[in-house]
Amino acid sequence: MKNSAEKYDLIVIGSGPAGLAGAFFAAARTAKVLLLEKENRFGGKLPISGSARCNVTNVLSPEEQANAFGKKARFLLPALKNFPPQMTRDFFKSRGVPIEITDGFHCFPRSGKASDLVDTLLTGCRDCGVDCRCGIQASELLIQDGHICGVKCGKQTFYAENVLLACGGKSYPKWCGSECGYNLARQANHTVTPLYPAMTGVHCMEEWPKECAGISFPDAECSIDLPGEKIHCRGELLFTHNGISAFAVIDLAGRIAQLLDSHPSVPLKINLFAAESAAEWQKRFSLWRQNCGKNTAGKLLTEYIPKKLIPHLVPQSETPFARYPADASKRLLANLTSLRLNAVNTENWHKAMVTRGGIELAEVNAKTLESRLISGLFFAGELLDVDGPCGGYNIQWALSSGVLCGQQIK
Ligand SMILES: Cc1cc2nc3c(=O)[nH]c(=O)nc-3n(C[C@H](O)[C@H](O)[C@H](O)COP(=O)(O)OP(=O)(O)OC[C@H]3O[C@@H](n4cnc5c(N)ncnc54)[C@H](O)[C@@H]3O)c2cc1C
Repeated sequence: MKNSAEKYDLIVIGSGPAGLAGAFFAAARTAKVLLLEKENRFGGKLPISGSARCNVTNVLSPEEQANAFGKKARFLLPALKNFPPQMTRDFFKSRGVPIEITDGFHCFPRSGKASDLVDTLLTGCRDCGVDCRCGIQASELLIQDGHICGVKCGKQTFYAENVLLACGGKSYPKWCGSECGYNLARQANHTVTPLYPAMTGVHCMEEWPKECAGISFPDAECSIDLPGEKIHCRGELLFTHNGISAFAVIDLAGRIAQLLDSHPSVPLKINLFAAESAAEWQKRFSLWRQNCGKNTAGKLLTEYIPKKLIPHLVPQSETPFARYPADASKRLLANLTSLRLNAVNTENWHKAMVTRGGIELAEVNAKTLESRLISGLFFAGELLDVDGPCGGYNIQWALSSGVLCGQQIK
């Protein structure tokens, strides 16, 4: 028999930013809400995001943010317009956690503590009467005649006419990432598109970058050198024991992982000095030829490149620059401005910050985030087939999608 204490208007599964926002906005509209979290702590990946400082959003408009998600932009727009980045900043500020724009673009809590965001959302939930329970894993959705009616957690059953799946992605299993949410969605006959580790480093076919592990370039630009691939990533580039990582490449990882399904390797093109054009390098080469021609190419380049990289990037490095052959000069220029490396893998789920792939968007109504297959079933956050680049896009999406779901609960 159903115990009245176990009946809710909404059950939220997952207490990351998407789940907390959903629970809060539903409860603020007087809905009776149960929030379930499988871990023994609330917050999902929020507390560890942005090196525990949390890049919670950025200064872009909803349209600009949505466009950063590429072809998925149209799906994201209703949620982002409904709760845009500015509202995120206002929301936390009005609850005593001011959000600072650190570099004219990225937004972090002024306190430097991601945990302040979790505390704010959780306190808000509790103040509105959300029944917050951690250490409880939802194991089954109860569905009757195409309508959601509850959730099973092992032997316990909770009833509600609305369920929000905000279980996050598969990445970062050591913290809370899992396939739980996808399995629950599959029970409701939802399609889960192929899953790939995203926002992480890549493994290269070439051996020499591995010998240079630890060396970094502060402002590089990396792109996939295949027809039709348009993403360019700019920022720090780090050589690792497996290949390359850091901001110049991590936003390419999800796409590289997808391409590796059909390509044995993915060619990458890297400009090691994004602020310098090929013409500027050529001008510098002529000046070197005129003014410091007795110095070897290797010696001249040490001003720009760590010594360990000279043998790999500077052909005929022992040749005095006055006698540096044209073909060596051409290869040097190519290495500096469009270095070729081949990606053969990405880092695994343990290092991936985000999951590419998830609940098929065509099966979800973008205006309400309700399932088109099961009424009363909602989706928010990273569980959906949505992943944004580095820079506060993913948490903003989690919050905006959670808010939209919460507001649907009458
Ligand atoms: C190291 C790291 C740094 C990051 N930094 C940033 C950043 O600075 N800015 C940014 O925008 N993004 C960042 N991200 C990505 C961002 O954290 C996620 O995209 C975001 O947290 C997704 O929110 P979510 O609520 O959808 O899922 P999550 O935060 O993953 O939360 C999902 C929750 O659901 C729970 N759950 C799952 N299944 C069940 C179940 N069956 N029953 C009960 N509970 C369940 C999980 O335990 C988890 O707590 C980072 C990610 C990582 C890993």
